[in-house]
Amino acid sequence: MSKSTDIAELFNQYVMNTYAPSATLISGHGCKVRNPDGMTYLDFSAGIAVLNVGHCHPKVVTAIQEQAATLMHCSNLYYNANQALLAQRLSKLSLSGKCFFANSGAEANEAMIKLARLWGSEKGKFEIITMQNSFHGRTLATVAATGQTKVQDGFDPLPVGFVHAVFNNLDSVKAAVNERTVAIMVEAVQGEGGVLPAEESFMVGVRKLCDQKGLLMLCDEIQCGMGRTGKWFGWQHYPVKPDAFTLAKSLGGGFPIGALVATTDLADKFTPGKHASTFGGNPLACAAALAVIEAIEEESMLKSAAEHGKLLVAGLNGFVDQYAQVQAVRGLGMMIGMVVEGSAKEVVDACRDMGLLCCTAGEHVVRLLPPLNVSESDLEEAMEMIGDALEQLFGDEEE
Ligand SMILES: *Cc1c(COP(=O)(O)O)cnc(C)c1O
Repeated sequence: MSKSTDIAELFNQYVMNTYAPSATLISGHGCKVRNPDGMTYLDFSAGIAVLNVGHCHPKVVTAIQEQAATLMHCSNLYYNANQALLAQRLSKLSLSGKCFFANSGAEANEAMIKLARLWGSEKGKFEIITMQNSFHGRTLATVAATGQTKVQDGFDPLPVGFVHAVFNNLDSVKAAVNERTVAIMVEAVQGEGGVLPAEESFMVGVRKLCDQKGLLMLCDEIQCGMGRTGKWFGWQHYPVKPDAFTLAKSLGGGFPIGALVATTDLADKFTPGKHASTFGGNPLACAAALAVIEAIEEESMLKSAAEHGKLLVAGLNGFVDQYAQVQAVRGLGMMIGMVVEGSAKEVVDACRDMGLLCCTAGEHVVRLLPPLNVSESDLEEAMEMIGDALEQLFGDEEE
């Protein structure tokens, strides 16, 4: 069990075939990870936007170690301080409201969907408008919310109550509103859908539409939240405030935790018995998240995400000029997509062979999500590896 090939063989025999792993990792530190055969990679996938503060951030490690030895779990029959402190931090950073804690993104979205339905139930409103190419999770309700048939096929009947409109097309959202509509749900930057930021006029238009029609504006910040875009939350790039939003991925710095944050008025629709989670908000998960927030603040990671994101985009734009097959670079902060003609996976595989981990977002987008505190020398090294990968794939045709 010491080599990549042994681990892969065991994994493939006993773990269900829902993933297609492309490397084996045994340790990580900051932006670097290692495989069992002695190879080091620069990790610009960062656990798919989970490791915003890098692998094994010392603050997060210590917080988890200390909390694990003090009070690892505390049921929600009793108060626990870390949950209160984390809710206070998230509230003060955003809507001055209240939080509910879950263990994953899909669960946080389930909580948000339930809260919206509860809010609308007296008026008989339940339908939520979500966007085409969105991604909201893999539970049945969040699969129904997701605007991609590829995640839905084979799972009928899906829960009803979701309709899909076109992202960045306000008219299409307006046309989807009816007397059953309770909320409009968007990602400020679509992640899985291809690293596509919302246009300002769209976010402002959705907010206005919600105000006019008495609907809730819901943001899924699971991928673009927690500093990824250079602000705490993606919606903060726009002159709008949602009524509620969800977090997960990077919230715990690698430890599983999800959160629903809502304005007080909306949050207070939940009363004892309406929603619950055994592990949600337990002292250990909340200790990890509190340490992540401190690390982001102490190391000015919002600033570095914004600045280094610009450097990375500038570098990648060089490849747009150099190769016809590299069509565009887009994104916000450290959430960056490079659009290629043909297969993004081929580019990702070539980068991995060079020593750089990144991932795809749909068929034609190479997604780069470095830890927010990546150093400039690591950025330069990554640019070189991407350059080498592109040269290998596209170089000859340029001669
Ligand atoms: C990853 C993701 C989810 C699902 O989170 P899980 O923790 O995998 O359930 C939901 N929404 C967005 C935008 C995501 O990126």
